[in-house]
Amino acid sequence: MRSSLNAARRARELDEARTAVVDVLVVGLGVTGAGAALDAASRGLSVAAVDAHDLAFGTSRWSSKLVHGGLRYLASGQVGVAWESAVERGALLRHTAPHLVAAHPYLLPLTSDVGPGEAATVMTGYRLGDALRAAAGTPRSLLPGPSRLSAARALALAPSLRPHGLRGALLSWDGRVVDDARLVVAIARTAAAHGARVLTRCRALALAGDGARVRDELTGAEFDIRARAVVNATGVWAGGLVPSVTLRPSRGTHLVLRPGALGALRAGLHVPIPGGRARFALVLPQADGRVYVGLTDEPLDGPVPDVPEAPESDVAFLLEVLGGVLDRPLGRDQVAGAFAGLRPLVDGPGGAGGATADLSRRHAVLRSPDGVVTVVGGKLTTYRRMAEDAVGAACPHAPASRTARLPLAGAGPVPSGVPRRLVLRYGAEAGAVLDLTRRDPALAEPVAAGITLADLVWAVRHEGALDAGDLLDRRTRIGLVPEDRAAALPAAEAALRRA
Ligand SMILES: Cc1cc2nc3c(=O)[nH]c(=O)nc-3n(C[C@H](O)[C@H](O)[C@H](O)COP(=O)(O)OP(=O)(O)OC[C@H]3O[C@@H](n4cnc5c(N)ncnc54)[C@H](O)[C@@H]3O)c2cc1C
Repeated sequence: MRSSLNAARRARELDEARTAVVDVLVVGLGVTGAGAALDAASRGLSVAAVDAHDLAFGTSRWSSKLVHGGLRYLASGQVGVAWESAVERGALLRHTAPHLVAAHPYLLPLTSDVGPGEAATVMTGYRLGDALRAAAGTPRSLLPGPSRLSAARALALAPSLRPHGLRGALLSWDGRVVDDARLVVAIARTAAAHGARVLTRCRALALAGDGARVRDELTGAEFDIRARAVVNATGVWAGGLVPSVTLRPSRGTHLVLRPGALGALRAGLHVPIPGGRARFALVLPQADGRVYVGLTDEPLDGPVPDVPEAPESDVAFLLEVLGGVLDRPLGRDQVAGAFAGLRPLVDGPGGAGGATADLSRRHAVLRSPDGVVTVVGGKLTTYRRMAEDAVGAACPHAPASRTARLPLAGAGPVPSGVPRRLVLRYGAEAGAVLDLTRRDPALAEPVAAGITLADLVWAVRHEGALDAGDLLDRRTRIGLVPEDRAAALPAAEAALRRA
């Protein structure tokens, strides 16, 4: 397949990148960089895109996986940001990734912490959000409107809620991506299908307007990639390559609960944070049955780590907030894992000293004097627009962006008779993954909940996985629970040998 990424293609294209002069070099292959690579390649430009580690190694795999309509921004008066979110959410649901993004219901339990006045204000916000949905052209059939539920109905959807004092719940809908790292992989593969050279384990050591000094992290070899334009999409690490870019990273932690920890949860929850001025913690049931609980917003001081740690204080805080609505609060022993990500927030007026939660989520496209274009901030939901703006700034004479309706790898008619778990992960490619097990039944062996050896072999052959970490921590999310990761490691190694 033209979209297949694997070790052989990487080796070939790395060789080519040493000698070619490309139209655009993209540095960083999170959602923004992968989006920029696709935007540029689909405009007909030649592209090399590098990441120091792997696809989705950075913040893009640590998100809440919401493809949101920007309600929060509406509430804080950032109408432009809210509009952009609603438009981009519609593009993902309707055109570009309907196989990966779908509507998901959320309940706001009406407990004694949420007075009737606050409930009415929140419902007004939901209705405004619904109006934005309609204005952005997303049909109700893809994203239902809000409603108020009785306590009995709320308990049917979320049986772990405390029934005592529950007056009912507000039900709202928003978009959700089945897995943020899979979205990045789909974008990168689509870019590859349009001819982009997608090169992981290639660290940019220094950038200039006409290229970069790059190190192949697998061999240690250093070389130059020459380019007519350079886009720095390294997220929270952007200032390390372009010192004039100043960010105020903020840490967001999620807990990972095992399937069933909150009973048969059929909706997400918005849990009021006491004293948080309409701020809510999120309970986010996942397709694999695990439940994420997030999320904190704490400024990060000091150097930016490759993989941020989730401190115990964040874990304790989230457990306490969640306990406020549960019939039986959870103990620390029920937390199977935790992860943290760093928001690449752009420092703006009033930023210094203020709460990171109040910094704008709008993205910025910044040109440094030597011509490097840095794109930073924003969010997963708006990656396509960020990419369009960045490539537009880097290559002002290029043809117009085509990505608003460009289907990502896996979008398209789903074959019949394929298990639902494969359809959720692979969309139109689900049949090809199933074929692997038809040809070699040993590949049907389960590796973890919802994952077989065939998923891992597919990831090595087509999704650019180069080692066990790529397989366990990004192509699948088995690694979010350390003991699941340890149990699956031999299977990952076997898949690498087999593929
Ligand atoms: C906790 C949390 C929850 C969030 N939840 C949501 C949500 O629900 N919905 C939403 O829309 N948004 C959400 N966001 C925001 C969203 O996740 C980020 O805005 C987005 O993922 C940033 O992507 P990026 O590609 O810009 O950066 P990253 O994903 O961090 O990518 C940067 C890449 O650059 C690479 N890199 C760094 N240095 C170099 C170098 N020298 N050479 C080569 N490569 C390099 C890194 O390896 C990395 O892969 C959340 C953010 C956080 C932190």
